[in-house]
Amino acid sequence: MKRAVYPGSFDPVTKGHLDIITRAAALVDELVVGVLNNNAKSPLFSVEERVNMIKDVTEDLPNVRVEAFSGLSVDFVKKCQASFIVRGLRAVTDFEYELQMAQTNRSIDHDIDTIFFTTELNYAYISSTIAKEVAFYGGDISGFVPEKIMERVLRRAAAARQREN
Ligand code: ADP
Repeated sequence: MKRAVYPGSFDPVTKGHLDIITRAAALVDELVVGVLNNNAKSPLFSVEERVNMIKDVTEDLPNVRVEAFSGLSVDFVKKCQASFIVRGLRAVTDFEYELQMAQTNRSIDHDIDTIFFTTELNYAYISSTIAKEVAFYGGDISGFVPEKIMERVLRRAAAARQREN
């Protein structure tokens, strides 16, 4: 069984993430989307909410599983009995960090390889941070996040803005 893990914060999942999930899922028997439980980043959504949003937008992809994890990605990959890590590359700015992560992970566990997907051009400028920023000021995020989760993101961003004022 060929299994890969796509780890990330997904706070929230974007159209760019969903594109990578769809393309990676087509290449493996099972793709596990691993949602990092990292409180240091003070996310807008709890890890459970992030997991549920990804489940909702991938319900038509039968070989995609979504799970929360904490700690090292390689440990989660081993626990899943997967042999690949999937990551996305938007621009050269992603490259240095991603290369370092891939090399670190391989030095921790030599059996684990990282596969990179280059982003679809029309999603290249999208990030969770940009989506949150635009939502925070009540802008149109229909180009950034899947329609199914749009309301949830707008509502949460509006609540965060109210708390700030
Ligand atoms: P992390 O905090 O681990 O960077 P993210 O949720 O921001 O988690 O991103 C997870 C992965 O998805 C990373 O490899 C990132 O480069 C990739 N990614 C993020 N946005 C996009 C996008 N718009 N298109 C393609 N890949 C993306």
